[in-house]
Amino acid sequence: MSSTGTTSASTGGLADELAARLPDLRGRLKADVALADLTWFRVGGPAQVLYSPADEADLAYFLARVPRDIPVTVIGLGSNLLVRDGGIKGVVIRLGRGFGEITVEDGYRLRAGAAVPDVKVARAAADAGIAGLSFYRGIPGSVGGALRMNGGAHGRETKEVVVEVRAVDRQGRIHVLPVQVLGYSYRHCGASDDLIFTEALFQGVPGEPAKILAEMDDIAAYREEVQPIKSRTGGSTFKNPEGHKAWQLIDAAGCRGLAIGDAKVSEMHCNFLINEGKATGAELEELGETVRARVKETSGVDLDWEIKRLGEPRESGASSFGKPPRE
Ligand SMILES: Cc1cc2nc3c(=O)[nH]c(=O)nc-3n(C[C@H](O)[C@H](O)[C@H](O)COP(=O)(O)OP(=O)(O)OC[C@H]3O[C@@H](n4cnc5c(N)ncnc54)[C@H](O)[C@@H]3O)c2cc1C
Repeated sequence: MSSTGTTSASTGGLADELAARLPDLRGRLKADVALADLTWFRVGGPAQVLYSPADEADLAYFLARVPRDIPVTVIGLGSNLLVRDGGIKGVVIRLGRGFGEITVEDGYRLRAGAAVPDVKVARAAADAGIAGLSFYRGIPGSVGGALRMNGGAHGRETKEVVVEVRAVDRQGRIHVLPVQVLGYSYRHCGASDDLIFTEALFQGVPGEPAKILAEMDDIAAYREEVQPIKSRTGGSTFKNPEGHKAWQLIDAAGCRGLAIGDAKVSEMHCNFLINEGKATGAELEELGETVRARVKETSGVDLDWEIKRLGEPRESGASSFGKPPRE
């Protein structure tokens, strides 16, 4: 069956151009979508076009046919993203319901679509008596984001529990890849940036549901105590440099509580930046860069952003995308 993809109100822009070019698209194309609404920080400009694929085949159809000069960016639940105020040019892809299945398989394995929140992976594993995945209780992202970031917590990380993934490349080809080829290291995935993960197969070990659930409760309680999880934040801003804790370096540099406008270094956990209300993407980024500079000055260590910064600054005049970037 084929039906046309749906677009938001006609703007004569890129969304309409793509809908015309892709008659069998089943997913949704929407023009000028506020990304602040889709990220934890609640800052940043719009996506020129937001595409929500119906399923993996729809995503592959789209990627195979979208012109190469149109930038394509994928986002998950936006818990590790700082979107700049000018927004993101081209197409932003956000996986939804068509990527939301979880199935338990033999051998203490669990298969989850890339849009499944990590916390649901932890819960489904617990219910099925699969131990080893409870650390996902504390990570507020999706499976896709965990695969790209090698998300980890409480002494475990994604690369230890994933067996294989499915992904679609920029040419629309579907790949099934074993974890060994994904080039994982601390908060890093070495797989080509153009791969969009669509599914993961996780491996756990036998466990008692009640014990696993109790472990998850402990994780949730601990998080509430030590992290500003109810704030507009992006989680840990910087990676821990070899042999150091980022928060200790930031504290030693006197940055706890430092603020630029409504962008603030959390008092509770100083490797977290928070938007206290009306912060802009530029203020949060400037605050992060100020912290980096002060840490460099006091300890000589270069901090690396863990948060992914995407899009254009507002000065580029790219805050509204009425026209496609091509002729
Ligand atoms: C309160 C709080 C606590 C946090 N605690 C932790 C923690 O303990 N451990 C930890 O590791 N992280 C933590 N984070 C950071 C964040 O939750 C993780 O990095 C998470 O894995 C990001 O997932 P996401 O779906 O939100 O991805 P996003 O933030 O939307 O995107 C992150 C990156 O993943 C890419 N991406 C997303 N989906 C896909 C896909 N389907 N295919 C390919 N690439 C994709 C994006 O392009 C981007 O580069 C925390 C964040 C917050 C706000």
